[in-house]
Amino acid sequence: MKTDIDLLWKQVMVSVEERLNDARAYEIWIKPVKIKEIDGKTVHLEIPGMTFEKGFMPYIDIIKQEFYRITGWIPEIKIYYTETNKDKTPHSPIEYELPLNPDYTFDNFVVGPKNQLAHAAAQAVAQSPGIAYNPLFLYGGFGLGKTHLMQAIVHFVKERDEQKILYLPADVYLNEFIQSIKNKTTHLFRQRFRKLDFLLIDDIHFIAGKEGTQEEFFHTFNFLYDQRKQIILSSDRPPKEISFLEKRLVSRFEWGLIVEILPPDFETRVAILKKKCEMKKFSLSDDIIYYIADNVKDNVRILEGVLNRIFALSTLLNKDIDQKVVDEIIDGEYYKKRTIITLDNIMSAVCEYFKIKEDDIIKETRIKSILIPRQIAMFLGRELTGNSLHSIAIKFGGKDHTTVLYAYKKIKDLYQKDQYIKGIIDEIKNKLER
Ligand code: ADP
Ligand code: MG
Repeated sequence: MKTDIDLLWKQVMVSVEERLNDARAYEIWIKPVKIKEIDGKTVHLEIPGMTFEKGFMPYIDIIKQEFYRITGWIPEIKIYYTETNKDKTPHSPIEYELPLNPDYTFDNFVVGPKNQLAHAAAQAVAQSPGIAYNPLFLYGGFGLGKTHLMQAIVHFVKERDEQKILYLPADVYLNEFIQSIKNKTTHLFRQRFRKLDFLLIDDIHFIAGKEGTQEEFFHTFNFLYDQRKQIILSSDRPPKEISFLEKRLVSRFEWGLIVEILPPDFETRVAILKKKCEMKKFSLSDDIIYYIADNVKDNVRILEGVLNRIFALSTLLNKDIDQKVVDEIIDGEYYKKRTIITLDNIMSAVCEYFKIKEDDIIKETRIKSILIPRQIAMFLGRELTGNSLHSIAIKFGGKDHTTVLYAYKKIKDLYQKDQYIKGIIDEIKNKLER
């Protein structure tokens, strides 16, 4: 039985490898994964650890799809960490370093008017750490190249000298901190960070509201800063606007340079598409490239997703790429992004935030304390999902679509005028988008 499972897993891995068409990514993220068992439709996989999980997550969908192609059923994936031999190293904290994406280099970063400041600042701190801009705080929307720039700094520094540099997504930082409390190894956790020359924490807003982690990070920040070590942070918004981020952290994050990355303009989008084609050794007509650049405006990740799909269709399936095919792909990529969040997700996130019951929202009531949560739910429903006004109304206890429209306008207005409401919405949205 076990060998059947191993064989099946091997087959899945081979298909995933073909599909990825990226030997490094396969080596780093797929090969280390082992299968434990299959139980009903649940596939139990074993991975090296928590830090690995973060990088592995994006591949789970592909694994599921290839599983489906081979077996005809869609698996549920469960993940376990490889058990480490605790007797051998009773007090060592997890020091597994997150493998970086080898493509996220300065060379591969296309510079345009909307990101040139961020790019220049990133290069400056990589070259003269601790002097010019400390900390460097990069912020901007999803998929605009923050992680790419941060990892480019790491590649650059690692290639040159013996400096100790560590890149961590904030959620991994948080998890490892919690783990160290559990294992009573916080002193080792602390030491690990204090011996660094560079510390990069991605998506720092993740530690907002987490008291202990903020406290720990505050001291690490001060320690490194006093030693003139370089700190680089990223977030989807400037420090001031991160809800529940401690004041003393906000003020420290503002000590250095804060730079915003904005969505690329048309010319930069074209240049990015050309660059990615070149990297994949794949040629696409200018017409198609302009067409994509014209239709995907706000997010480089989607731009790339569209390109990858086109690439797969034309190389694997020999499909001709015309405008119609591109249209479908673009819709598909946007749709994927939208469907991640459902009305159910919104319902539970709103209820959890306000500590109310779903029934309260659904019931027709005019109690003020319910009104705002309900209207926020409707606003988010419209903003974050592809559902019709009608289904949003039904879900959140509105009379009809006009209730939703009214709520949407009202909350949108409040969002711009009222810092408090804005904070609440950002917090809920943040949770949903994770
Ligand atoms: P963020 O961290 O801001 O959400 P990422 O750094 O993950 O975004 O970028 C998303 C994708 O878009 C990555 O694959 C990255 O390589 C690509 N990308 C973003 N900006 C650029 C750019 N200016 N040049 C080349 N690739 C880019
Ligand atoms: Mg990122």
